[in-house]
Amino acid sequence: MKDGFGRDIVYLRLSVTDRCNLRCVYCMPESGIRKLRHEDILSIEEIDEIVKATAACGISKVRITGGEPLVRRGIIDICRRVAETPGINEVCLTTNGILLPKYADELIQAGVNRINISLDSLDAVTYNKITRFNGLDDALIGLNTAIKAGFDAVKINTVLIGGINEESIYDMLALTRKYKVDVRFIELMPIGECADWSEEKFINASRVLQLSPELREIGTDGVTKLYMLPDGLSTVGLISPISSHFCPSCNKIRITSDGTLKPCLHSAEEIKLRGLHGAELEQTIRDAIYGKPKKHGLDDGSHSDAIRNMNAIGG
Ligand code: SAM
Ligand code: SF4
Repeated sequence: MKDGFGRDIVYLRLSVTDRCNLRCVYCMPESGIRKLRHEDILSIEEIDEIVKATAACGISKVRITGGEPLVRRGIIDICRRVAETPGINEVCLTTNGILLPKYADELIQAGVNRINISLDSLDAVTYNKITRFNGLDDALIGLNTAIKAGFDAVKINTVLIGGINEESIYDMLALTRKYKVDVRFIELMPIGECADWSEEKFINASRVLQLSPELREIGTDGVTKLYMLPDGLSTVGLISPISSHFCPSCNKIRITSDGTLKPCLHSAEEIKLRGLHGAELEQTIRDAIYGKPKKHGLDDGSHSDAIRNMNAIGG
């Protein structure tokens, strides 16, 4: 359905847990988080009911995320139910990749079409510094497993952090010469843990083009500007939520693992869905979509108004 500004809202980011096996510095505190109690998290049946209701409101693509979705008990069942929902024709999952060797085949059988792996560096020291975990080898085994498993697409998401992983840009670009794996560079957003970080950490995605002038523009994919190396096998994308905010073409809503609907990532507005059923649930979702804000204010230099860290929203 269309929101109040005529945007077609077809994409749901569904967070199935706020827990994670990593502690990325921009996303979660080192000490972890106050864990939601089991009963505070949507059950598999509740997720099923909510996803069906969003599909009735026009959602056709679901990205399953978290926290780390692969640490959620019952994740395969959740994926299968989402994939079987009438009206849902694309199911993607965003993961840090660590648990992919265990789950990749089951995810495919459950109907997951696409995998995004978040990987900010191929250098072990930098990886450990960002994730606070000595897990680069595991993440790379996960990436290889995903490439071989036969998903429709495997993408790598790299968040750029000024002064920390700019050098990783070269390594990530080199991957597109070797593998059928698309790389997306994403601007760090001042939300949650990194809301107060100094300005030089927030670098423009165009830094990739400065460091690699041989990249050739080949078009766009939604909000992503696409490029390729002359000898590349796969695409390089720049996603710039800050420097060229793409609110006019935003087609998403988010649902958190405790059952609130967020019409905009950067707004404090959260609409409780838990406890609602049938026509009331569907109408509440319709009203939330219709009331989606026109834009966020991050490009004016202000912080996100979101009241949660990214792990608790679902990036
Ligand atoms: N744990 C999974 C993972 O890392 O892929 C899924 C959840 S994580 C919150 C989803 C994505 O959000 C990751 O690609 C992560 O890098 C990104 N993310 C988290 N905090 C961010 C921030 N402040 N700015 C930009 N991206 C962020
Ligand atoms: Fe975990 Fe993903 Fe957040 Fe990193 S970005 S701490 S992997 S939820």
